Amino acid sequence: MILIYTNMKIEKIFSTAFCNECGSKFLKRSSKMKSLCAECSHIIYGYKNCGHVFENGVCVKCLWDGSRSEYIVSLPKEEVNL
Ligand SMILES: [Zn+2]
Ligand SMILES: [Zn+2]
Repeated sequence: MILIYTNMKIEKIFSTAFCNECGSKFLKRSSKMKSLCAECSHIIYGYKNCGHVFENGVCVKCLWDGSRSEYIVSLPKEEVNL
């Protein structure tokens, strides 16, 4: 039982998903949204962004790969806090 619980916990901490907006893989726990990465949920909904730390083109904190959807790129710059 303890082992199963631990495995579930590890899975929860490290589980990843793909962002519906930019298509990047992201760490689920890094984002408030289930289907959006921290970056897209920040830009679209104003949720707290990840303080990205890039290593080899991928953020080590949220796994975002820097992808941006056409929609986000098309937003006026002043609305996007880059
Ligand atoms: Zn995204
Ligand atoms: Zn990040």
